[in-house]
Amino acid sequence: MTSRAHDPWLLTPGPLTTSYSVKEAMLHDWGSRDKNFIAINQRVRDRLVALAGGEGTHVCVPLQGSGTFVVEATVGTLLPRDAKALILVNGAYGQRIARICDYYERRYSILQTPEDVPNDAAAVDAALTDDSELSHVFVVHCETTSGILNPVADIAEVTVRHGRKLIVDAMSAFGAIPMDAREVPFDAVVASSNKCIEGVPGVGFAIIRESLLEDCKGNAASLTLDLYDQWQAMEKNAQWRFTPPTHVIVAFEQALREHEEEGGVSGRGARYRHNCKILVDGMRELGFETLLPDELQAPIIVTFHMPADPSFVFQTFYDYLGERGFVIYPGKLTVADSFRIGCIGRLGEQEMRMALDAVRETLVRMGVTHCGPKQSNPATA
Ligand SMILES: *Cc1c(COP(=O)(O)O)cnc(C)c1O
Repeated sequence: MTSRAHDPWLLTPGPLTTSYSVKEAMLHDWGSRDKNFIAINQRVRDRLVALAGGEGTHVCVPLQGSGTFVVEATVGTLLPRDAKALILVNGAYGQRIARICDYYERRYSILQTPEDVPNDAAAVDAALTDDSELSHVFVVHCETTSGILNPVADIAEVTVRHGRKLIVDAMSAFGAIPMDAREVPFDAVVASSNKCIEGVPGVGFAIIRESLLEDCKGNAASLTLDLYDQWQAMEKNAQWRFTPPTHVIVAFEQALREHEEEGGVSGRGARYRHNCKILVDGMRELGFETLLPDELQAPIIVTFHMPADPSFVFQTFYDYLGERGFVIYPGKLTVADSFRIGCIGRLGEQEMRMALDAVRETLVRMGVTHCGPKQSNPATA
């Protein structure tokens, strides 16, 4: 895949390596009130709704900023003051939703599982049965902290059966792991430009059930983060209320075009699964162990146990790989001393194999002979 030789390959959870053509799309200036830009904005919104299977039921509300800005805007807009959220937590991003609720003084309960254990639909069922005040359920589709895939379809089924609202943080899954509103009845899904769609960072979006959003006037305590107001304004004249990230949106349209050319969600997902398999197989061959068993692993980012070999110093490993042109990611898990390697972005088999070569040579350079963790996990060995 084409990239400039001097750019590093980003094996991270985002921002990611983008195609040359996506970067090239930004070499122009656009007036935000110009009809060509307005048309691009509309196409981007329509395409995102289509990708979520929400045509006729859901609307796309984009917002300036990183993904968290839209998560926050979604909490602030969709939750009335008397709402009570049930937040499913098995990593930092679920925890972040709770933090947002603290800022907004929205009540919540947390259903927590360890970072290597998926959300439990039966526990959600019990919680919703016990507490009739719980009005909204929050789930993170792929919890990027560990790379675990959460059972959103099961959670959606339980939530709908209880007549509550479901909000999905699908930031790191949208565009690569299927979630179609006609099959998984979510009320809102939140994602951003710079993950599996492979755009550049700067815009996020929420795809919200229109009948729900219509009732959300006056909920938001922030003008800039009011998705109802953003939606109403955009419906009126197709324009953004405040300066849009024009270049980001134009690049996003190009990224969406390339996503479609690759075969949409299934094509993109297939490449990532292939990347993930090459990475996991190659790392296991070198002696590394994954945190998660294969059946819980989303093909987005893989957490590896830190090797027990005293010659393995993560910062040195990171720096040497950086010299070879590969940027990996430290772990921030509580269950295990670990690091992460992403398999999303404009990367294919060749780049994953080059990354493995770089890892192999880096281990030799560091004098690391044993890559297994202190405590071997038989489930993933
Ligand atoms: C990336 C990500 C976010 C948003 O992070 P930003 O740094 O604000 O873009 C939120 N949730 C999940 C699951 C993510 O992977």
